[in-house]
Amino acid sequence: NYVSDYYLVSPAHANQIYHPIQPHAHKGTQGHALIIGGSYGKIGAVCLAAKAALKSGCGLVTAYIPKCGYNVMQTAFPEAMVLTDGDEYITKIGFDLQPKAIGIGPGIGQHLETQQAIKEFLSKVNVPLVIDADALNILSSNKEWLELLPENTILTPHPKELERLMGGWDTDFDKIEKMKVFTKQHNIILVAKDAHTMVVYKGSIFINTTGNAALATGGTGDTLTGIITGLLAQGYEAAHAAIFGVYLHGLTADVAISETSMQAFTAMDVVTYLGKAYLKIE
Ligand code: AMP
Ligand code: MG
Repeated sequence: NYVSDYYLVSPAHANQIYHPIQPHAHKGTQGHALIIGGSYGKIGAVCLAAKAALKSGCGLVTAYIPKCGYNVMQTAFPEAMVLTDGDEYITKIGFDLQPKAIGIGPGIGQHLETQQAIKEFLSKVNVPLVIDADALNILSSNKEWLELLPENTILTPHPKELERLMGGWDTDFDKIEKMKVFTKQHNIILVAKDAHTMVVYKGSIFINTTGNAALATGGTGDTLTGIITGLLAQGYEAAHAAIFGVYLHGLTADVAISETSMQAFTAMDVVTYLGKAYLKIE
């Protein structure tokens, strides 16, 4: 129940959201995350997201990908379970699992069959959901499907994806007003990614304070999708998963640049440095 419009997400705010893993936890209680995405040439995106999800602390991760990514995923990420559909891209989304959270979009592409698969998936899904990348672009081309989103679904657009979703803006103030209207209209949470990422939730704006230009490299957005999905799977409520996930994601880059260069930082380093980022949270 936030009373004001604007909040800077401070370390104290992040510490307040964080909850440690309980001593009697097991992989079943830590939550199962499902990451859906990938297409020929973009299996890396879903691999990054799935790794980031597990590394955020959830108990189990399943990656749902097209067949062409099967060997890649099992080799690059042996901790993941893998389900496949379609050869070079996803044509249907169906599974016999009860994940606690689902992230969809990294590398998924925009084939017509994939678009239909997403529509059918959205009309049935009833677990906490993160939507990113081409799954967002598919929503932008089929705006009526926004009505299918469960309440508090988290959308993580970069500026171009945001513009496709809700139209352009003139000033930053105008952008914020439009985001407030858009999130209220569809009962969703927006993570508007940028150098200063904003989380928009029920009329309040949470401005992130971590992160740096080391993150300006391909694939870092996919790791954010994984982190937020992993937090949802652990039982963090949606707004907390979005705010804390963005904070933690930025913190990986802040920790990293005291040890490596901005130039050499890549998306997989977000995953690598998640451990050290968590050590900064109390
Ligand atoms: P994407 O464009 O989907 O790969 O997402 C890029 C990610 O990197 C987002 O989480 C951005 O907030 C973050 N990012 C990109 N450039 C910067 C920057 N200059 N400073 C801080 N974060 C950044
Ligand atoms: Mg992206």
